[in-house]
Amino acid sequence: MKTLICSMLLLACLVPATAGEKLNLLIIDGQNNHNWAAMTPIIKAALLKTERFNVDVVTSPKNKAPDADWATFRPDFAKYNVVLSNYNGKLWPKEVQASLEKYVSEGGGLVNIHAANNAFPEWGEWNKMIGLGWRGANFGDRLTVDADGKVVRTPKNEGPGAGHGAVHAFQILVRDPEHPVMKGMPQAWMHGADELYHGQRGPAENMTILASAFSAKEKGGTGAHEPMVWVIPYGKGRVFTTVMGHVGGTESIRCVGFQSVMARGAEWAATGSVTLPLPANFPTATSLSLEEK
Ligand code: ZN
Repeated sequence: MKTLICSMLLLACLVPATAGEKLNLLIIDGQNNHNWAAMTPIIKAALLKTERFNVDVVTSPKNKAPDADWATFRPDFAKYNVVLSNYNGKLWPKEVQASLEKYVSEGGGLVNIHAANNAFPEWGEWNKMIGLGWRGANFGDRLTVDADGKVVRTPKNEGPGAGHGAVHAFQILVRDPEHPVMKGMPQAWMHGADELYHGQRGPAENMTILASAFSAKEKGGTGAHEPMVWVIPYGKGRVFTTVMGHVGGTESIRCVGFQSVMARGAEWAATGSVTLPLPANFPTATSLSLEEK
């Protein structure tokens, strides 16, 4: 009997988390061209509110910190079902890069929020994981969505590189309504005031665009439907990226739509499926929905 119980316990540890169990999520922050210290608590609270996640935070050393400090920065990715990057700064040590590559390729989940895709242009495997990053037009291809919903690939050196127009509230258009993250969402919904990233560049291999937004020229945009949410397989793992989530004000990350996409994206990256329901106050095609400050 004792052996049986031990075997059952062992089995319980090895079986991936299923519906109802809490998923272990790690947020990485510590450097960003945005106020990461203001962002992380809001992101963490939104995730905890779903009661689907345990959330830990690892904060990196400062950019100019001594090597001895960086030598202690070794996030234990393997302890987590999913890692969320709120980091845009100094390139991580080689060991940490290799550790993340191993973690995701062996089945771990990775979620990138907004300027997380600005990071690490010199890290080849990272570029494969994020697909598109904040890079110049000479860095790689660009993807947009045409009026019929078809994905259009523009080669490097053609068209704009990374940028954004004025911060404003805009509509998110769901492009893959059957994907677990997007299932049940209105086809269009209003997102709180945010930077609408355009001209993102990268290898863009195996990308599935889940949602886009129209980048209006009168707002300083491109006149094209730009990818807002996408997923990429990496080995046995799943990478989920959204370029929503600029923090100057906080309307973007208090948007119920953003928070729902983020939490469902994290659950999907961790497990490959989504159990989190859409909140009753999900935004509509014409109405914003914002969490309180
Ligand atoms: Zn921003």
